[in-house]
This record gives sequence, C-alpha cells and structure tokens, in this order.
Amino acid sequence: MTRRVLTAQIKHETNTFSILPTTLDSYRARVFLEGGAVLPALKGTNNEIAGVLDVANQEGWDLVAPIAADATPSGRVSAQSWSYLKSSVLNALEKDGPFDAICLSLHGAMVTQTCEDAEGELVAAVRQRVGPDTPVLATLDLHANATRLLADNASALISYWTYPHIDMYERGKQMAGLARRMMNGEIGRARTVIGRREQLDGFDHGRTTHDGPMNEALRRARAFEAEDGILAVSVNAGFPWADIADAGPSVTVSHDGRPGRARDIADNIVQFGWDTRHERTIGHLSPSAALARIKAAGPGNGPFVLGDFSDNPGGGSYGDSPALLQAMVEGGLKNAAFAVICYPEAARAAVQAGVGAELTMPLGGKFDPTVTPSFQMTGMVKHVSAEGKFTFEGPMMRGMAAAMGPSALLQIGGVETVVISNRFQPYDRMFLVHFGVTPEEKSVVAVKLAHHFRAAYGPMAREVTLVDAAGITSPDPKKFPFKNLRRPIWPLDIG
Ligand SMILES: [Zn+2]
Repeated sequence: MTRRVLTAQIKHETNTFSILPTTLDSYRARVFLEGGAVLPALKGTNNEIAGVLDVANQEGWDLVAPIAADATPSGRVSAQSWSYLKSSVLNALEKDGPFDAICLSLHGAMVTQTCEDAEGELVAAVRQRVGPDTPVLATLDLHANATRLLADNASALISYWTYPHIDMYERGKQMAGLARRMMNGEIGRARTVIGRREQLDGFDHGRTTHDGPMNEALRRARAFEAEDGILAVSVNAGFPWADIADAGPSVTVSHDGRPGRARDIADNIVQFGWDTRHERTIGHLSPSAALARIKAAGPGNGPFVLGDFSDNPGGGSYGDSPALLQAMVEGGLKNAAFAVICYPEAARAAVQAGVGAELTMPLGGKFDPTVTPSFQMTGMVKHVSAEGKFTFEGPMMRGMAAAMGPSALLQIGGVETVVISNRFQPYDRMFLVHFGVTPEEKSVVAVKLAHHFRAAYGPMAREVTLVDAAGITSPDPKKFPFKNLRRPIWPLDIG
C-alpha cells in the first residue's frame, strides 16, 4: 500500500523587540514556495524537506508538500500572514488527505501578532484534525522556545545538532525515518515530554563549535537515544530575544511508551543546563577594543573576522546598524571588507550611479533610529548587482537561491562594504564573492552575524572576535524591557 505523507515548512525566529512586522513579502524575500514548486526547488539542497523527500522516494511514498516558507528573523508575524501559512497546511490536510504521517519543518521560536506559540498552535491544530494515532513529527531549530502544547501534540520532535546549523538535511531524513517506523508499526505509540527550568538562556546559546555545555548535552542526548524505546532527545538552547512566557532552553524526549524514563532523561539534561548556565565559550568586545586588538596583532595570515553580534539579522536585528562599520572606517582599517548593510536607498543609488561613481549620503540606522543613528559616508561604487541574485555555496543553505535586491559594493575609506536591499544574514562567502571580493585576501572581514558565520568564515579566519556594537540582539538581556516573560528567571532575577 502506498503511504501518503504530508510535509511542509513554516519557519520564523521572531525577535519581539523588533518593530519590523513579518509579512508574506518577508517570506517571499527568502523562501516562499507553494504546491508543485516546493519539492523541485528543495530537492538536493541542505533543507529538512530535501531529507524527507529522499526517504519518500526511497520508500515509494506519495509525498504532498503544500508550502515551504522561511523568512529572515524579524518582528512578530502579521495575523494575516500567520493565518495564510497555517491554513496552507490545514487545508491540505482536508483537501488532499487522509495522510499516514505528517512531517513538519518548523523553527520553534515563531511569535505572531495573535499567538505567542505559533508552532504549538499549528501542531495542536494538526493533531486535532488527524486524531491521536497518526504520526505527527516536527524538526526544530535548536534555538526553539519549545512549549508544553507543542510537545503534547507531537509524536516526535527533532532539533538541530549543530550551531552553526548545517544539519537540516540530516534532521529531515531522521524525522522521515522515524515516521517510516511509526507507519510500519515498529513504533507503537510515540509521545514527547518536555523539561525546562527558570532560565532565559543556556547551553552556551547552543554553540557546537567549542567544547562547552552544548556539546556535552548533545553527547548525553545521543547516548540516551541509544536506549530502547527512546526515539529522539533534543536540546534546545532557546531564543532569548522573545518577550513571551515560555522563552528559554528546553529538552524534549520522544519515546515509545516509556514516559517515566523519558522524564528522567529530560530532567538529567535540564539539570545539566541549569548547572552550567554561567558557562560561556566566547566573550564580546566593544568596537574600539576589537580594533585595538587587531592593530596590536600586526600583519599575519588570513583575515581577522569580526561578528557584529548585536545587529545580527539572524536573531531578528535590523541589519542596518553602521556602528561597527563606522568604527572600522574611522579607525583607519585598510584592506577590510564588511558584509552586509541593508539600506535600499544607498544600494539603489549606487546601482543607478554605476561603477566608478562617488556617493555621499547617510547609511543605515533607518528601521529604528533610536537603536542606531545613521553614518554620513562617502563611498566609491566598485561593483553593482541589479538584482543581487546568487546561489549559496554553503555549508549552510548550500544550493539554495538568494535574492538581495539591488545591491552594490562601496569602497568607504579602507572598507569594501556590501550594501543590499533585502534583509539577509551573510553566512555565506557569496555575500562578498558575488561582488568580486575574496574574503581570504582581506586583513579584516566583518559580518553581521553572531555565530553562523563560523561555518563559512571560520576556516579562513586568523582570529574570530564578537563585537557588541549596537542593536536589538545585544548579548545583555538586561537591556531589554521584558513584560510577558515568566518570572523570576535567570539571569534577570536569579543569580
Ligand atoms: Zn538557530
């Protein structure tokens, strides 16, 4: 009998401190595929759906994929957009069902104008329609703020094992493999338990590049997964820039009729996350301290790579703060590159003016001037790209298409600066290479990211430094006006 499986992707990491609403246009600027376009576009990419698709082909499933949508992190998803995204899945359940299993690719930290827990609401709605016995599985980003509602309604939850996230394909495949065993009756009744403490952040924010709390938690998770009846153990570091009751780390354990053991496993890793809450494998410098460090080091091989942590679009920041760029220009850095500033006015002006033209205009600080003022700059246009289109080389998002809109490379002082029109997190070398810049040849490369850049830029870096310049993803949670978060909580109220 041919199995009929529904798969869909709806992702967003919502920074509730952003005033920038997330709409379907925000999705269209990154990934927005519907119906027959979903599977051909994602096949062979490093995406969860590609993993599900490979298993489906191997098993001869009839795979239905109504939607795949992913937007760059930003503010709350508009009520209308959320209703559209959720309906795409629920309508397909009714129109194209019944299904033998549902495999969803979600983030876990999506907040809408009407709902603090979008993934919980979606999975509960799916569960309500398919009944208690149909497998409903989901993959999550390890920065998920996972909830009881989500866990109670999921047969299995599988979070990424890597940060930078490079295992989307593998986790999709793992989810489909579990769905296969559930459909074949090898797994009887899969359920998921969740555990957490009064913590806003933890597990070293999920970093797997350094030997810290996250790697140890993952090591324990893999060992527990080897036990009979334990299907998946996931460690979520949480997403702290969300003013919702349930923000923070969690551990989910999916099991086959072993709720007691699953609870013990969750408690074990949760306790470890609590005990190690103060442990950080990296620190942050101010822009001036970072520049002083570079100058003191003198010449050497490979670029110093600076992560503009606090204005990281990957965490919902605006991506238009010129604070670090300005410090680099005024600090007299030479042979430096900066990826990227989102400022459509300057990008369009540069494309219009053409290569060789000189522009004097304000740059950045547009989305919310109270966070960062603009930088009055003079720059020479060195390269233009009318549509800013290229394909990611990876490791993250390998093979997927990017469209930055009108974009240009400006020489501002000693810093070659990529200015783009759509908000993007520059986790790929192509954000520079597309403009003729070879990052390996630079002395300093700054990227608007917190950690994802390590996948592409880590291997070439002489040294990596995180900078707290300005923005709404500052590493200091005390800078944010939390109102809805459950209290008391570490590190705001508890030491
Ligand atoms: Zn993440």
